[in-house]
Amino acid sequence: MFTAIATAADAPLTVTERDVPEPGPGEVLVEITACGVCYTDLDVLQGHWPIARFPVVPGHEITGVVAAAGPGVSWPTS
Ligand SMILES: [Zn+2]
Repeated sequence: MFTAIATAADAPLTVTERDVPEPGPGEVLVEITACGVCYTDLDVLQGHWPIARFPVVPGHEITGVVAAAGPGVSWPTS
């Protein structure tokens, strides 16, 4: 999967390829179909969000489908 990552405040995003993670116990893997970027993301990328830890993948307003479920998950599944 391709991911846009910021490694530091005010740094340009870097697009990298990463392995698709496996969901752990109690987790689901969501295949993202759309993602919004809001002002909070801009605050994080500009270093104005004090609890942000870099590297960070901006975009927390997502929609998608459950692609896999980890152990112990019976809902939601596709
Ligand atoms: Zn937001």
